[in-house]
Amino acid sequence: MFNDEFNRRSFLGRVGGMSTVSGLAANRASGSEATGPAQGSQSAEFRIGNDTIALVLDDTGHLVTLANRLTGHSYVDAGKHAPWQMYYRSGDPMTGALDLEIDSDMQSGTVRQEENSLVVSYPSLTGHVAREGQTRELRVSLVLKVTLDGDHLVWTATIDNQETSKAIEITEIWVPWIRGIGHLGLGHTADALYWPDRAGRRIPNPYAKLSSAGRPRPLLGRRGEDTALMMTYPYPASMQWFTFNNGAEGLYFGSHDKTLMTTCLYVNTGEGETLSASIVKYPFVQAGERWSSEPSVTQVYRGGWHEAAHTYRAWTDGWIPKPNPPDWVRRTTGWLIPPGKGQTGHIRSVYADIPGIWRQARKAGINVVNYFGWVKQGFDNLYPEYEPDEAMGGADGLKAALAQIERDGGRTILYTQGQLIDPSTSFYRAKGKSIVARDVWGYEYLEAYGGRGEGTLLDVMQNKYFGVACPMADGWYERLISQFEMAKGFGAQGILFDQMGGRPPYICYSTEHPHTKPSLAAAPGKVRNMQRIHEVMRARDPNFVFVVELATDCYSGLVDVIHSHGIGFWPEPEAFGELLRYTFPEPVITNRGGGPHDRRAQLGYAFTLGWRIDAALRDVTDPVLAPYLTRINELRNAHPELLLEGRFVDTENFLCDNSEVASHAFVSGNDLAVTVWNPTAIPQSIRIAAPGYALRSAEWQDPTWSGADHLLLPGDIAVHIFQRA
Ligand SMILES: [Zn+2]
Repeated sequence: MFNDEFNRRSFLGRVGGMSTVSGLAANRASGSEATGPAQGSQSAEFRIGNDTIALVLDDTGHLVTLANRLTGHSYVDAGKHAPWQMYYRSGDPMTGALDLEIDSDMQSGTVRQEENSLVVSYPSLTGHVAREGQTRELRVSLVLKVTLDGDHLVWTATIDNQETSKAIEITEIWVPWIRGIGHLGLGHTADALYWPDRAGRRIPNPYAKLSSAGRPRPLLGRRGEDTALMMTYPYPASMQWFTFNNGAEGLYFGSHDKTLMTTCLYVNTGEGETLSASIVKYPFVQAGERWSSEPSVTQVYRGGWHEAAHTYRAWTDGWIPKPNPPDWVRRTTGWLIPPGKGQTGHIRSVYADIPGIWRQARKAGINVVNYFGWVKQGFDNLYPEYEPDEAMGGADGLKAALAQIERDGGRTILYTQGQLIDPSTSFYRAKGKSIVARDVWGYEYLEAYGGRGEGTLLDVMQNKYFGVACPMADGWYERLISQFEMAKGFGAQGILFDQMGGRPPYICYSTEHPHTKPSLAAAPGKVRNMQRIHEVMRARDPNFVFVVELATDCYSGLVDVIHSHGIGFWPEPEAFGELLRYTFPEPVITNRGGGPHDRRAQLGYAFTLGWRIDAALRDVTDPVLAPYLTRINELRNAHPELLLEGRFVDTENFLCDNSEVASHAFVSGNDLAVTVWNPTAIPQSIRIAAPGYALRSAEWQDPTWSGADHLLLPGDIAVHIFQRA
């Protein structure tokens, strides 16, 4: 069976590759294999494997085979490349160069066997130098180790920088770098790449999308323009794993790195119609330093992408905390963000208007106001300085408005920034300039925002720049806590720290900050600050809620609500919010407006996936949107144990006969809810079966409908409630 299936694989067919795996197959009855070197017809080969997976390296350490023995399919061609890549710097452009390649295929390595591991050693390396076409030897050794651990291959690298010149620093290593990924056995068009861009992206036939031949494609990344996908973790990658999958089997890549070093997930076009994939680390190994990477894991598996999600989730279960929000948050349907004072100072409502806006929101089933534009400075100005605006009612007016909403049974959250520092503030001049993250030149990383006025001036000239706080810097945590005290003092029941849950994990080169490496500044600093903020908040008021913008797994358990942004929180052709939602079903996360679809589609998409609603005033006043949203919240409030607190299980436990309709399940005890949404322009018939369950009710957009026998009209949502039979 194994040999027959393997030999049918279509994109390979090199005799050497097949004989290699045939040799492995002969030994598979003995279980785990760790044999080598074996004398092939041309060169020695080293192998590790078992009944699930087979890995073969040649005697120079180049990858020969990576095969799924459960299905008999080999996932790489026999291109025989070294499965890593490195870059270093030799000072700066004044004294040397940044970002010089150490071409892995040009190095001479030796391979040895250590029980279930293959170890490739390079006693020294040859790297490019500033002058193009020339190279030099580097007194830098590399040991690449790949260990068979069950059905996982665990990759680690150890770099020993024995240079004496401080200018020589290893800045980047790719471990592993798997090149020549063809298809997974069913052809290119069957494969999809599940990519954790924000809530998730599903890229069908990634070979065609990334291949440089053929039709024009959208810009995806700077390197190679549209031929590469790359993103940093933590954020915009919400998780540090991805998988190729064809519905029947898959190949998993996971960065199992608890240090939260700034990491890059990378997929690029390769030779022929192949892709390469890697996990990139930025270790900054200085002269005299020895560094070992955290593990990267590759896994082959049978089944759909859920299997890969289980692998990653099982690894995070040991160390990423689960959120534990106050009870009122667990059952919140979302919030409304009222209009306020904008970026250019234009005031669209005052404090006294907010209780009335809250009453409108409550009619649509939303009980929380998340108040952004409340500060005198105007939105997106002069962070981190916040004062109530006399023109909007002053501090007393703000307190009165928040107190009124609380008396009426509502909740309020006040907006603050979580990391931007405006260089035009007195805070910046006094402290902020030593807190901001700094680039390799020692200058500040800057982000640009800004609003529009009534003329053209603010459209033609960028007028607002911010530095970004390095979370490790002394003084920043204290500033964040002072924001919490301020929000609580005004009478809010929660505080939003904008951007804190994401944005680029800046590699901070400041020598004044207490981080051990530039790439260990952002995420470790945020985790430390968020743990402290959470503890202080809980001690002061167990019902006060900690809200951050942007969803990333490693921060999600430290906060109570996440205000999201990006693909998968809104619908668009590759949107696949299931990826984050299924892997981490616990966090309370709101949806967000965006993407090419209309607002009603955004609400329907959010309903099926279980994102809470991030509403604007229009959503609760518009004659089309308001009834639609009201019905979503009615259904959620009718079945909160399932639709708000239930565990999202995606497509498990039920079958829907219509793939044009989005359908997902939530479970709670013996109950199961299947949410559906019709994103098409025509009515759709649906039949939903949940084996082992009995249908209890079917509830539709039209509240007068009952029973399962209805067409789902364009844009409509519905829910089927089942009970275990
Ligand atoms: Zn720093």
